[in-house]
Amino acid sequence: MSESFPAHARVVIVGGGIIGCSIAYHLARLGWRDIVLLERKQISSGTTWHAAGLITTLRDSESQTRLANYSLKLYQDLEAETGQATGFVRCGSVQLAMDGDKAEEMRRGCAMARSYGIENYEISPREVQDLFPLAYVDDLVAAFHFPNDGRVNPADVCQALARGARQLGVRIIEQVCVTDVLQERGRAVGVVTPEGAIKAEQVVLCPGMWGHALGRAIGVNLPLQAAEHYYLISEPIDGLHNQLPILRDPGRAAYAREEAGKILLGFFEPVAAPWAVDGIPESFCFDEIQPDWERMEPHIERAMQRLPILFDTGIRQFFCGPESFTPDHNYLMGKAPFVDRLYVACGFNSLGILSGGGAGQVMAQWIADGVQPMDVWDVDIRRLQPHHNNRRYLRDRIVESLGIAYQMHWPHRQWDTARDVKRSVLHDRVAAAGACFGESAGWERPNWYAAGAQSPRYVYSFGRQNWFDNHRTEHLAVREAVGVFEQSSFAKLLVQGRDAERILNRVATANVAVPTGRIVYTQFLNQRGGVEADLTLTRLASERYLLVTPAFTATHVEAWISEQTSSEDSCVVTDVTAAYAMLNVQGPASRDLLNAICEADFSNAAFPFATARWVESGYQRLLAARVSYSGELGWELYIPSEMAVQVYDRLVTAGRAFDLRHCGYHALNSLRIERAFREWAHDMGPCDTLLEAGLGFTCHWDKPGGFIGRDALLAQRERDILRRRLVQFVLEDPEPVLVHAEPVLCNGERVGETTSAGYGHTLGASVALGYVTLEQGVTDEMIAHSDFIIEQADRSYRARASLRPLYDPSGTRARS
Ligand SMILES: Cc1cc2nc3c(=O)[nH]c(=O)nc-3n(C[C@H](O)[C@H](O)[C@H](O)COP(=O)(O)OP(=O)(O)OC[C@H]3O[C@@H](n4cnc5c(N)ncnc54)[C@H](O)[C@@H]3O)c2cc1C
Repeated sequence: MSESFPAHARVVIVGGGIIGCSIAYHLARLGWRDIVLLERKQISSGTTWHAAGLITTLRDSESQTRLANYSLKLYQDLEAETGQATGFVRCGSVQLAMDGDKAEEMRRGCAMARSYGIENYEISPREVQDLFPLAYVDDLVAAFHFPNDGRVNPADVCQALARGARQLGVRIIEQVCVTDVLQERGRAVGVVTPEGAIKAEQVVLCPGMWGHALGRAIGVNLPLQAAEHYYLISEPIDGLHNQLPILRDPGRAAYAREEAGKILLGFFEPVAAPWAVDGIPESFCFDEIQPDWERMEPHIERAMQRLPILFDTGIRQFFCGPESFTPDHNYLMGKAPFVDRLYVACGFNSLGILSGGGAGQVMAQWIADGVQPMDVWDVDIRRLQPHHNNRRYLRDRIVESLGIAYQMHWPHRQWDTARDVKRSVLHDRVAAAGACFGESAGWERPNWYAAGAQSPRYVYSFGRQNWFDNHRTEHLAVREAVGVFEQSSFAKLLVQGRDAERILNRVATANVAVPTGRIVYTQFLNQRGGVEADLTLTRLASERYLLVTPAFTATHVEAWISEQTSSEDSCVVTDVTAAYAMLNVQGPASRDLLNAICEADFSNAAFPFATARWVESGYQRLLAARVSYSGELGWELYIPSEMAVQVYDRLVTAGRAFDLRHCGYHALNSLRIERAFREWAHDMGPCDTLLEAGLGFTCHWDKPGGFIGRDALLAQRERDILRRRLVQFVLEDPEPVLVHAEPVLCNGERVGETTSAGYGHTLGASVALGYVTLEQGVTDEMIAHSDFIIEQADRSYRARASLRPLYDPSGTRARS
């Protein structure tokens, strides 16, 4: 082998499971040549060979739904193209709801799926039995039929993708394990194997459950952990045939399908068992795990009740295989942060077969263009942070994340496991004030505050949850008096150096060449004008800026700046998040309150909007920044951590005279939606241009050297009448609670969906933001003359739409 072993390739793909083979196939289809795929054992010998092969298209997010839908279409044609059978059967699938809440969740999901063109129908329990006569249906309250869903033989699909790739010139080499990734100056330049090194222009890691260890070896964060994953296969049963639909049965944490005249019954038990936490055996190849009958017995029994004939039929095989799971049940895909030309795709959470086609296509396009072809932030590797890779954290969280797919997806649902990773220095203080915490990027953050004897716990439901009244009090306090938000979780990045201004000016849409003390609201764009980050940037000194961005974007923002910085530049980014607590004081009384506790003048003349300065409060010194994400007058206080408790205590004591309220992230969210302030990853992302997001005003078009994305925006401005724009909505009916991802109809046609939503207590109804796409262009006039409907599950609500903020359109309150 060593003679013919390549020394160079354009792309090296590591791992020959369905994901690696799919990326190789799709890159080759894009016309790429000189691709080498290395597999440590044999093609499909990791997790792929033993998967159940369900291709069910309704997933948790739009991007994952689209990837699954693409896979479905690809797999049905792959046999004809490659000559390799795939076992594809268009059998359809049926989702079963055993209670009203699950039915509501499914109706909401099905409405969204229809807006992406995925056919589905609500059917009665009786109709379920017509489709699958052996099914017990008396406990069902609703069911949903997806007639186009299908199933495949995963090992065969993997072989078909490998064959298709080979036919297009890809070289697949088995029995070669990659031990290292060669890196030079922050760039991947090849791989190391026992057979020798291969120099490469791009490296793509698709190592499945081996990803965590490989990532640690090469210094890249790949937080995933293998867990036991089960199905059983019954003895043959008369009358079964391959057109029987897949049954997805969340109430019994199970799914079922026909398998060669038998039943395959699979499990997503709510408390899972991590596997091989100390490392996967080197010899692992087409292996399975000894099943834990005792642990699984109650789950088997409960699942069998759906097909009672199984109680009288023998079990031919009880199969346990490992699959990798991630902390948030979303896979790890895209460009690795901090290492140029290194891509990853692994951690597929038992969705690798149904996602494999789409993931391969998106990854190939991403590698070819350097920019993702669609918004996949929910699975983007750059959402993750170092703490996610902690072994104990992974082991504890994976216990919960395996089963999550089949549990209730309540609005605002919080994880139960692996909590309390990061606490602000004010945590105990706000806990004592009644905070109900939610988690973001490992931080415990107050989402809302309990009142009096109320317990600070979520009671989940659709519609108004138990914190609805608390939320109203907090929301109105900020509009009418003053509220304090504990926002220490916000990422704070110091960008320093001689070249800091030049680099930031190239990256940011706004002009950052501003005097010291000025705050600039800006975005980072990709070459297509898509929004990669949304942040504020404060000039602290001639060679020092403070960037503030939501906690979950910290890795992405830091990596983005580092990508634009060469080794010759004098520009260093330092994450100082932990060094500063942040209290955000918002509301018309905020000026008087801050004047009462600080030795400074907070008047309009002395402290104008979008400026920041160091002020003293007692013995403490803090940076006060006059900005507003609530739409009201207010200041963000960045306080050195060791001084934060003292300032907090002083603020709260003085605040009694001003009716100061503790307010949580739910209130901040509804306040900003009323004011039509966008949130990155919800209302804009890499595939939404700045003009579509309605933030063109941040651009300094003529600054010397321009900015990344400027040409794309100018081209769009010239050729387009903006067919797609972010629009604000308020429901006419004050009762419903929108959450996001609801279809939007304009004059009876589906034109988009909501991207964020909440209850707007000032406007008196649910408010939302969402993209509208119309061939004739989205203009004020067209909006004024159109009827808008927002759908939720099977209900339709009339909505008022606007391109200008419905609350304080001129923005005078924050500048008052
Ligand atoms: C019981 C069970 C049922 C499932 N059912 C379904 C289903 O119905 N639908 C669905 O969509 N998904 C299902 N899955 C999940 C699906 O099997 C996986 O998500 C998918 O196979 C993952 O593919 P992969 O390519 O990422 O990983 P793998 O198939 O594990 O491939 C990774 C490959 O990389 C190789 N490799 C690792 N490290 C190196 C290295 N350093 N050098 C060279 N090669 C390396 C490995 O040998 C392996 O072959 C199921 C999983 C299980 C366990």
